[in-house]
Amino acid sequence: MIAGLGPGADDYLSKQVNEALANATDIVGYITYTSRVSDRKGLTVHSSDNRCEVQRAELALNLALSGRKVVVVSSGDPGVFAMAAAIFEVLETDPKRWRDVNIEVLPGITAMLAAAARSGAPLGHDFCVLNLSNNLKPWALIEKRLKLAIEADFAMVFYNPSSRSRPLGFERTLKILKNGCSSDRPIIFARAVSTAKETINIVPLAKAKPDMADMQTIVLVGSSQTKVFFHQNRMVAYTPRSVRD
Ligand code: SAH
Repeated sequence: MIAGLGPGADDYLSKQVNEALANATDIVGYITYTSRVSDRKGLTVHSSDNRCEVQRAELALNLALSGRKVVVVSSGDPGVFAMAAAIFEVLETDPKRWRDVNIEVLPGITAMLAAAARSGAPLGHDFCVLNLSNNLKPWALIEKRLKLAIEADFAMVFYNPSSRSRPLGFERTLKILKNGCSSDRPIIFARAVSTAKETINIVPLAKAKPDMADMQTIVLVGSSQTKVFFHQNRMVAYTPRSVRD
């Protein structure tokens, strides 16, 4: 099974995933995520570093083939910039070898949905989702997609906006946004959503700065229709359901 642990809060973990974890003999995943699974007798936890997805997928498939009940864990949803695609990628290289392995993907609440819910309803109309990390694709492709999304006036979501090894990407992203959108376009910085350290910061594009995002932040960008106002002492953002001609 390939399971999504949700954005952080236990309340957001589905019953289905909880049951899979309770029945597992082996948990496989990036150490930050495996550490969210409570240890118990009879459970073997295989934690690995962030960048070894293929080896991790192979390990999980081999364990499953040997009869173990394996759960590969990802944060949020496992199909969103996470392990599910890596498992299928490995599976496809040798379908015969893995023929007897049952695969089930158990969904989780992905970060953008938790962040959108916390900030109002910024994804109420059409939107587009980008992973800003250039670890697995060239920066030129990110830039092209970003520019086209701006042109199409999508609301946007950026996963992996910034990290210590990629300090310049988000700075460039903001420059491109500032060139293509008006200065009052709402930008939502949602950090550590659903955990004790959660912060939601909604600012106009003119005030958005590169250091407002890190690896624990998801960034939501309004479309030209997105509105921001105060309700019960907090700022909310929403994108109306319709666009008029
Ligand atoms: N599979 C995950 C995404 C993994 S990519 C999911 O569906 O949510 C990792 C990126 O997700 C982080 O850099 C950040 O942009 C975002 N993210 C994950 N959890 C988050 C949280 N609790 N709050 C804000 N952003 C989060």
